[in-house]
Amino acid sequence: AVLADQIAAGEVVERPASVVKELVENAIDAHSTQIDIEIEDSGLKKINVVDNGDGIIASDVELAFRRHSTSKITTKKDLFKIKTLGFRGEALPSIASVSDVIMETATRLPPSNIIHIKGGKIISQKMGARSQGTEISVFDLFFNTPARLKYLKSMQTELAAISDIVNRLALSHTNIAFSLKSNGRLLLETAGNGKLQQTFSAIYGVKTARKMIEINGEDLDFKVSGFVSLPELTRASKTYISLLLNGRYIRNYQLTNAVIKGYGSKLMVGRYPFAVINIGLDPLLVDVNVHPTKQQVRISKEEELVQLLVKTIYQRIAQENL
Ligand code: ADP
Ligand code: MG
Repeated sequence: AVLADQIAAGEVVERPASVVKELVENAIDAHSTQIDIEIEDSGLKKINVVDNGDGIIASDVELAFRRHSTSKITTKKDLFKIKTLGFRGEALPSIASVSDVIMETATRLPPSNIIHIKGGKIISQKMGARSQGTEISVFDLFFNTPARLKYLKSMQTELAAISDIVNRLALSHTNIAFSLKSNGRLLLETAGNGKLQQTFSAIYGVKTARKMIEINGEDLDFKVSGFVSLPELTRASKTYISLLLNGRYIRNYQLTNAVIKGYGSKLMVGRYPFAVINIGLDPLLVDVNVHPTKQQVRISKEEELVQLLVKTIYQRIAQENL
């Protein structure tokens, strides 16, 4: 089982940022309202995620680290209307197979349960006194897969990837208070008051937030809403374009380009806007089960959505120039 988990880990756990993503998504799925993330040495030494969510009942603690055991879907039909971020039951076993993990979790009823797993093997299990929620610490990531370690980019790049993922998760869950600390330094703190513009401002700064304008558009199948920057506010990279699909943050080349296209000829070559756009659609129109990391999705009627996005942004930007 450890080998199978390590193979799965190759797909789910590419780098420290993937661990952060999976752990935070679990905390979100557990209805947390506060999620605190601390990393040391770009996550290679330690990744710690504390949430105040549902917790895991004692009898399920060990199960959570077993492959394809997920509490989130029960029937095949559920696969077509997934509302949680996770559903494959692969993340925890994958992570635990390539690191040293300690998890302490408690539901509303004490005691808490503490489990220690290293390289996929259970080292110990005992009871603790933590209040409701889950704290998970991942130490020495990839300690037993040296090839993986070698493929990592610089510490700075890995840290940037973590920061990027936390930013996107915070933007897609404005009602959760997030904090991110790296080697003791606070990098992000959001209020969790449900306000997209305030969350945006916490991440990119007040000055940037002031140059964002609201967009809204819809057709029969899709609803798009959010904020895009005035054409004067741009960056040399497309990373500042965040796309959310029914609240799930995704990567999609066509849709990202649709946002850029909405600016017509107003952007300089090689410059890209800031954008946070939520796309609302019938869950039946999307297949999130395309890739283990669930960041790539298949959307039916994608071309129609592209048109809607381009048109909505184009018209809004034109308004601004009046
Ligand atoms: P998935 O999220 O795809 O179900 P994971 O391997 O990420 O699979 O997690 C396995 C299970 O462990 C989840 O289905 C959930 O029941 C439980 N779990 C993991 N993390 C948390 C958490 N922070 N709070 C509550 N339950 C959790
Ligand atoms: Mg998960």
